[in-house]
Amino acid sequence: MDCKEFQRLIPEFLEDELDVRQLEVFLGHIDKCKSCKEELTIQFLVEVGTKRLEDGTNFNLKDELDNMMKDAWQRLHTRKKLLKTVFFLQALVIIECVAAIVLGIVL
Ligand SMILES: [Zn+2]
Repeated sequence: MDCKEFQRLIPEFLEDELDVRQLEVFLGHIDKCKSCKEELTIQFLVEVGTKRLEDGTNFNLKDELDNMMKDAWQRLHTRKKLLKTVFFLQALVIIECVAAIVLGIVL
């Protein structure tokens, strides 16, 4: 992912609309690229800061951003685990089908 694509995905990230693959690449990029991290921080501050001002609630944006990044990593891990489980179940079904076919032939 290059910086241009990263920055295009920022709004979707803030809305939690990235799929697992995008999210993984997105989070991977932000770990390595300082300027994109800054860009994300700015967009986050604008986006969330504006909302909070409208709400009139107290807020600590630094903490919120940290939490959001933590959540995003957690989401990524959960979704990947889920995908692995689905893949495993599919594999099981296939094995059972094959077994049934093989047994059907043998019996
Ligand atoms: Zn970048």
